[in-house]
Amino acid sequence: MNDPAEAARIRAGLDAVWSRIRAACEAAGRDPDEVRLLLATKTVEPEKIRVAIEAGATLVAENRVQEVRPKFEALDDLDYERHFIGHLQSNKINALVPYISCLQSLDRISLANKLQKRLEREDEQLDVLLQVNTSREESKFGLDPDNLEAFATEAGRLDRLRIRGLMTIGLFTDDQEKARPSLHRLRELRDQVRELNLDGVEMNELSMGMSGDLEVAIEEGATIVRVGTAVFGSRDTSGSDSRPGSPKT
Ligand SMILES: *Cc1c(COP(=O)(O)O)cnc(C)c1O
Repeated sequence: MNDPAEAARIRAGLDAVWSRIRAACEAAGRDPDEVRLLLATKTVEPEKIRVAIEAGATLVAENRVQEVRPKFEALDDLDYERHFIGHLQSNKINALVPYISCLQSLDRISLANKLQKRLEREDEQLDVLLQVNTSREESKFGLDPDNLEAFATEAGRLDRLRIRGLMTIGLFTDDQEKARPSLHRLRELRDQVRELNLDGVEMNELSMGMSGDLEVAIEEGATIVRVGTAVFGSRDTSGSDSRPGSPKT
């Protein structure tokens, strides 16, 4: 990237977030190796993502299908893991699946069935997390917590999907404590589903916590925290709503 000051800002942001993760793990008595940092890179140019990967980031995720392939191609020479964390329409499955190793936003059975068909055709499997609407805001995608067990049972029968855990976008708030109930709830749900020992369902991952609430998320058991603005600065929101989980992302 030909803007050294910007590159330095990204590296400093990344270091600051890693420090926060380490401090939060220490405070919670957790092993820092149990918590992965995922960079949420919607609207971020590939050159900036490259700086972060070269500085040690290993996990990157997009929200919008149309951003996935161009960035994949621009960063093709780098070794990193790619997830998807946005709302996925069924008609975009084929444009997405070749480029990712994990879909964190599986939230309906019609989508699960279509993924299964595509993966059967290609003789492949895909890791998925089930997205849960823990804050029960109507504006958010995600499964109703009351339907989670039934959904996991049904999706667990689809042999091409490896269900690894749960994801949530907690309550938007400036106050970490207000985010806690929805994060705590996700962990309870994960433990409940794990107890059922369903075929085809592993419940190890908890993807929760963002720039504003990663400390509380780690305290509540997060294994993946998803961070955008704390590394890349605030997003240019002109013309589109780029809040996490908003219908337009
Ligand atoms: C953008 C986004 C994030 C990161 O949010 P920041 O507040 O920028 O850290 C996390 N999760 C999802 C699903 C997102 O869309």
